Amino acid sequence: MIAFRAMAVGAAVLLAGCAVVPQVEQAPESVEVVQPVATQAPAPAPAPTPTPTPTGPGTFLFNGELTQGGWIRGQAPGGTVTARLGDQELALDDEGRFFAAFDRDAGGSAELVARLEDGREIRSPITVSPRAWDIEHINAARRPGGSSEAFMRRRQPELDAIWDARTANSDSDGWQQDFIWPVTGRISGRFGSQRVYRGEPGSYHSGLDIAPGAGVPFVAPADGVVTLAAYDPFSLEGHLIIIDHGAGLNSAFLHASQIFVTEGQRVEQGDRLGLIGATGRATGPHLHWSIKWHLARLDPLLFLGPMP
Ligand SMILES: [Zn+2]
Repeated sequence: MIAFRAMAVGAAVLLAGCAVVPQVEQAPESVEVVQPVATQAPAPAPAPTPTPTPTGPGTFLFNGELTQGGWIRGQAPGGTVTARLGDQELALDDEGRFFAAFDRDAGGSAELVARLEDGREIRSPITVSPRAWDIEHINAARRPGGSSEAFMRRRQPELDAIWDARTANSDSDGWQQDFIWPVTGRISGRFGSQRVYRGEPGSYHSGLDIAPGAGVPFVAPADGVVTLAAYDPFSLEGHLIIIDHGAGLNSAFLHASQIFVTEGQRVEQGDRLGLIGATGRATGPHLHWSIKWHLARLDPLLFLGPMP
């Protein structure tokens, strides 16, 4: 009854030679073995029963990056009817495999819970290690917020389209793959970095910025379904592509100068999506790549091996 050993991250190697923000943290080489605790459910509710997973392990098995902005892939116990991480229900495939992840601001502990067909629950606590985010303190007042009515009239439909694309749940199994770099180049911005203005935190950087130069093609890091392809550039994101990898996991790619895919299209890992540009709000040509699992914002670097 053991959880798999977590993979080493090798993040320090990634950025050798890049003129970037210093390496903030290295993820732990390994994690403790998680000791699941089985409990008797007090009142097994009669359930509208989805098919339970067939034979499987006696407890949750998983591996991944057990840290803020990280993720796990694993297998639910045999006989599982439903499973969740905290309050978030997990999508289980036919063999009970699942994906789950930890928001940038996730607390230190999380719990996987499986409800079995016989009414029992199996619980597996997880320790989520904190990250040392790159926080910059600025001795200036934060710019006054608030957007003009005219801007919000344009913005709201864009936000709605992004929400719809982020929550579209395709049947893609790209979530099962090891991701590849969509493009390689100088890292010009890291996920999670944040400015604090006289004690008042601004919003943190929600993606990984890669700046190989204008016009360089970028590709799908994993299989998926295109749920948004903004041929009319959005006000902040410019030409934006959103790819759903299934199981609640999705990627957004911002600021492209050109895009090659259309909504509803299935893409495979390595397929060309577009060209690096500076459309929308961007100070120079780069790819801003952000990953979400349901509402959790994740660190793309934790999905990647060293930059090739
Ligand atoms: Zn960015």
